[in-house]
Amino acid sequence: MTSTLSTAIIAKRDDLIALTQDLIRIPTLNPPGQDYRLICEYLDTRLRKHGFETQLIRAFGTPGDSEKYPRWNIIARREGRRAGECVHFNSHTDVVEVGAGWTFDPFGAEISDGKIYGRGTCDMKGGLAASIIAAETFIEQHPNFSGAIEISGTADEESGGYGGVAYLAEHGHFNPDRVQHVIIPEPLQKDRICLGHRGGWWAEIETKGEIAHGSMPFLGDCAVRHMGAVLSEFENKLFPAMAARHTDMPVVPEGARSSTMNINSIHGGQKENDPDFDGLPAHCVPDSCRITIDRRFLLEEPLDQVRGEVRALLEGLRETRLDFDYELTELNSVLPSMTDRDAPVVQTVAHAIEDIMGKAPEYVASPGSYDQKHIDRIGKLKNCIAYGPGLLELAHKPDEYIGIDDMVDSACVMGAALETLLLPKD
Ligand SMILES: [Zn+2]
Repeated sequence: MTSTLSTAIIAKRDDLIALTQDLIRIPTLNPPGQDYRLICEYLDTRLRKHGFETQLIRAFGTPGDSEKYPRWNIIARREGRRAGECVHFNSHTDVVEVGAGWTFDPFGAEISDGKIYGRGTCDMKGGLAASIIAAETFIEQHPNFSGAIEISGTADEESGGYGGVAYLAEHGHFNPDRVQHVIIPEPLQKDRICLGHRGGWWAEIETKGEIAHGSMPFLGDCAVRHMGAVLSEFENKLFPAMAARHTDMPVVPEGARSSTMNINSIHGGQKENDPDFDGLPAHCVPDSCRITIDRRFLLEEPLDQVRGEVRALLEGLRETRLDFDYELTELNSVLPSMTDRDAPVVQTVAHAIEDIMGKAPEYVASPGSYDQKHIDRIGKLKNCIAYGPGLLELAHKPDEYIGIDDMVDSACVMGAALETLLLPKD
């Protein structure tokens, strides 16, 4: 059955399209973190018109923050007529680089076949637009609602969220006294609820050698061969051990229900020639080789164990391999986050999906992390999910798009969730 609110949201289809197009046309590329102020001002103007009080907050001193590329965020809050709970929609405003292979203008927001194309359409300006339309329409239909609605547009999610949600959480904006329910409209699909995400641990490993003439490698010590030994330990021991571990988290795609590790990069010996240099290499034994690893881990794996097993393999080589020496530098880590299925925001959105879509939602967890980690770990707010339109598989790809019907449907779900949480129960 279509509710009055859904009918009103469906009637705003053109507004939703125009809003999404406006957001896409502001190229908030990260890196470097471009036009954050501009998109915050755009949202500020829009939300003030609908009775929100707004704050523009710069995350001074966070990674990448500078006079040229300041890390701006916006939080908008609309108080209801009576006391009650606060529902917060959090969207990141940054988008990743364009990359090759586009057939549409990445910042043109062109419409074709019921879809809007552009960088950030699915991840996640379409979700942001859907939440704004849902909130504005809810307020028009129910001006006497209880509690409060917040909408935030935050920086830097694609680079860890330190200049965005982490900063806001550190400054009390996700304090459970202030906010009770958080919905992050990341592109997890309109009929799925994402309960959380795996953890991540990033490190650099350097093997050390000794430089010598390439014609007499026995007079030096080849750091690349030492790295080869590290990689074969990974192949023979670590990768099989990780593949054998399975999580109870409903991670999609299925392959990410085990532990995984990507070797991001490898560099050894003489650095690559500049493109304008076509000379020949000098002949040297490399004295250093470095790799960067990206280890994703499960709720069931403690971070110390994740670190410890890599360290143990390296220490094992130190004992068994002649002249093996290494340095391990931790670059970053984030812990897994997982909201309980019985949590109020989960149950509310689940019922809303059933009402609007006529079927029970699928519960999923994300292979990569998103800003839920900061809301959970820094904000200490557990009642948080990702729910929004779009297909995760399109994120960061060429010809990224968002389906217009999907945005409308998920806005209806968000609106129905607001009705459950912010209207008096009678
Ligand atoms: Zn995203």
